[in-house]
This record gives sequence, structure tokens and C-alpha cells, in this order.
Amino acid sequence: MKKRTLLMIPGPIEFEPAVLSAMGEPTSSHVDPEFIDAFGQALERLREITGSTDGQPFVLAGSGTLAMDTAGANLVERGDQALVISTGFFGTRFAAILERYGAEVTTLTAQPGGLPDLNEIEAELRRKAYKVVTITQVDTSTGVLADVASIARLGRQYGALVIVDGVCSVAGEELRMSDWDIDVVLTASQKAVGVPPGLALLVASKRAIDAFQARKSPVANYYADWGNWLPIMQAYEARRPSYFATPAVNLVSALNVSLGQILAEGVDQRVHRHKAMSQACKAAMQALGLGQVPQDPAIAAHTMTAPRYPGELADRPAFLKRVAQEGVVIAGGLHPAIKNEYFRIGHMGTTKIGDVLATVGAIESALNESGYQIEPGSGVAAAAAAYQAS
Ligand SMILES: *Cc1c(COP(=O)(O)O)cnc(C)c1O
Repeated sequence: MKKRTLLMIPGPIEFEPAVLSAMGEPTSSHVDPEFIDAFGQALERLREITGSTDGQPFVLAGSGTLAMDTAGANLVERGDQALVISTGFFGTRFAAILERYGAEVTTLTAQPGGLPDLNEIEAELRRKAYKVVTITQVDTSTGVLADVASIARLGRQYGALVIVDGVCSVAGEELRMSDWDIDVVLTASQKAVGVPPGLALLVASKRAIDAFQARKSPVANYYADWGNWLPIMQAYEARRPSYFATPAVNLVSALNVSLGQILAEGVDQRVHRHKAMSQACKAAMQALGLGQVPQDPAIAAHTMTAPRYPGELADRPAFLKRVAQEGVVIAGGLHPAIKNEYFRIGHMGTTKIGDVLATVGAIESALNESGYQIEPGSGVAAAAAAYQAS
């Protein structure tokens, strides 16, 4: 039987055929004129999809964690104060990265599913002179969507560099790097950007580059050092050959194809589509009687949904396996404090309503097989109705 599963996890996601074809093209030299042009165009397009007018894009071989590592390595020096606004697992990871580079880290966090409030953040910013503030726009471990515009405004008001982990949000959630005065937006290829895993993506503001250039100590990470990459990224954008370390040629070509598709759809239209998919998925979970990890619908991500298991559902690993047997792959919990209490559905990138309906249908079957009786089709009907209304 043909292996035909639908991958509905919060990354990696389903990829467009044209993106996958670009991956399979014969690999060219990294200084082939056609590749230089594709890389240069990908950098320009990356700037555009993050809503940056004059930021410096970086495309490195690596994953989202390398993008976080790069931001930390270049912007933090020993003894710097860093404020991490954490809404889950990836906030904790950012704190660990910044500490590794010598920062004195203060983490503001909330109960899983919550978000530290703006007054608390402002009080903390007033207490100390923070050099950097990090925010995770969508923490994939909780499905919480942070109010990046407001937190960034506060951070900037108190003179901090604002770094946004947009790994689960860039090209899926509204994010306006220049309008919101953000200093670093970082992401990875395999989530809403729609390219197989393997690229770390960053855009740095002019202020971030100035802060990097004003460092007193060398960057403690050779590969991630912007001093090595800045001339390379500038050369590719100017369509000139250059070399520091071999770029992931096929992935960069595929990135250019995907970014072209994203711009052809239109970033605003794409964000709107993600909202429609999210509303459909969340309406279905509610109709099936499942709660959600985010404490309030207003702080729930649109790129993913984090439903809570019904209390009656005893064998949770078996449930996930049953959904997979129905042909849809979803993910288990990730936040260590609530890992066995919820599961995760990704609906980003190329996701269409048919994908959401298929996912809800598979979840319905698996719930019934697992002994949690629901009316077959009730979730699907709620998703379809929410989609019609969106
Ligand atoms: C996935 C993810 C990361 C880590 O990215 P990797 O590519 O797995 O290294 C970091 N932050 C957030 C918000 C993520 O969703």
C-alpha cells in the first residue's frame, strides 16, 4: 500500500512539490552564478517576509536552535543582563543559551498556558538595565502566542535589544519587524517557512549589528560569528561570489522557491489563512469536548493547536498511534510539567481546510477507538462551520 501520511505536527510540516523538486536538483557550486542569484534573492525575500525594511538577513546551515545560538553568541557578552520572557520549553532553552555565553539571565514565566503580564514585564525592565530581551512568539510546547508588538515596545522603551524567537510563527503569524522595532527575528526552515529541516534563518536590525560591532570580547562561537558571515551575506545579496563555510546549496535553492510562493500568496493573506485553519481546528476540539493548553483563546497560536486530553482517555500513547494509523501524524506533549496532559497539532505552511478536516476525522476515530465516545462527525462539522464563517 502506498505510504501516504499527512504530517500535522508543529514542524517539520508538509512541503510543496516545487520546494521538494528544488531539493532534488543537481547540486551546483556555491559560487555558480545561478546559485548566487537564488541565494541573493532568498536573502531579499527573507527580509520582506519578516516585515523588515533594512535588516541584515543571515541564512546558515543548521536548525532553529542554531539561530537562537547565533543571536546569543553575537549579542551577549559576559556579565550582560538578559531578560527572557518565557511561555514554555523554548523560553527555557533561550535562557540556557544566553547563560552559556555569560549573560546574567532573569526569566519571567507563567503557569503552562499562561503569559507573563505586561505590568510585570515593565516592572522588571525598570529594575535593571537589560541589554537584551527575548520573546518566543509562539512557544511550540504550549501553543501560547505572545503579544510581541507590546512586549517589544516595552523592551525598546527601556533600551534593550529585542530578540524574537519566531521559529513557530514567521510566515504564519503577524510579525512586523521594522514597524514593531524588533532587533532580531529568527526562525528555521521546517516550520511555517515551508522548507525541509536544515536552515537557521535570522534578520538583524542595524542597531543589533552596531551592538555586535561594539563588542569588547570576541564571539565565543566560531561558526556563528557574524564577523565571518556578514561579508558573505552582503556578497550574495550583491550577487558576488564569496566563501566562509559551504552553504546548504539545495536547501537555499528550495528556500528561495518557498519564499517566492509565500510572497506570491501575500504574507497578510497567508496570516489570514493560518487564522482560518486555526479557528477550524480549535472549533473542532471544542465540539469534541477537549480543552486547550492556552488559558485564553486570545493568547492561542494560529500555527498550531494544543488540545488537552479528556480525563477519561487513559492510554494516551495508544491514542496517538491510532491517529497515525488513520494516516495523520500529530505530536505528543513537550512541556515537561504537563507532557502527558495534551497533544499538539500543527497547521502551518501549506495547510488547507481539507488537511484540517482529515486530521479532525482521524482524531475522532482514534478517540472512539480509545474509549472516549463522541458523535462521529461532530468535530468535522464544527471545523467546517468555523471555516465557512471565517
Ligand atoms: C522548533 C522550535 C525551535 C527549535 O528549532 P529546531 O529547528 O528544532 O532547532 C525553537 N523555538 C521554537 C519556538 C520552535 O518552535
